[in-house]
Amino acid sequence: MRKKIVIANWKMNHDFHETSFFLRNFLKILLEKKINHNKEIIIAPSFPFLHISNQILQGTTLKIAAQNIYQMDKGSYTGEVSASMLKSIGITKVILGHSERRELFFENNDILFKKIKIALKYGLDIIFCVGETSFERNRDQQFYIVKNQLKETIFHCTRDEIGFFYIAYEPIWAIGTGKNATYEQAQTMHKFIRSLFLEKYGESISNRIPILYGGSINNLNAGDFFLQKDIDGGLVGKSSLKIENFLKIIQS
Ligand code: PEP
Repeated sequence: MRKKIVIANWKMNHDFHETSFFLRNFLKILLEKKINHNKEIIIAPSFPFLHISNQILQGTTLKIAAQNIYQMDKGSYTGEVSASMLKSIGITKVILGHSERRELFFENNDILFKKIKIALKYGLDIIFCVGETSFERNRDQQFYIVKNQLKETIFHCTRDEIGFFYIAYEPIWAIGTGKNATYEQAQTMHKFIRSLFLEKYGESISNRIPILYGGSINNLNAGDFFLQKDIDGGLVGKSSLKIENFLKIIQS
């Protein structure tokens, strides 16, 4: 039985004070109210606050993820952050392939595969996002698009490397729009993704790989997503920014 996982993607929100306030109070509530959530919880704050966030969560089961890395090891890449830098401050996870990175920063599958390789070189776990646009879904191309996103990136990895991945299916039309996929649409895609892993890597990997749904998850719909057979949790944007909403989601 796969454990449920909830990942908060804070994007470019929450400054230093908001980040530390959230984490300290969230932990306090979890402990004082003895909240029983039984989920793996991962939080992705902005780069400048990764170190302090990791320190605040030290000794807890909660983990911190970065939202991006650069695809090169080191060198003259002004403004970029490398996998080894994250590793040096104890960060063990990174989100790659988010649709905002693909669309706004032109990260294509070639670039993403380079990022995957460098993340794996430093032993980072990778939360890898895939998903189609509304244009593609309206033409019933979602399965082809997602398959291709996997084929051109993760599917170049070895069986051992697959152990470092979480997959997040995030239909782009559902991200930040308040218009979530239906449970059926999400479950159908998750089952399809799992079948691709079965075909490529066999049963044990396909049974083990965590596949999360992302796209307008909130405290009202999270529970129903988490009930679906092939949905192992959620990648949550907007509804992860407020403690009370995020608490409800992890208890869903
Ligand atoms: C996201 O950006 O990964 C996301 C799922 O955002 P939201 O929950 O706001 O749709």
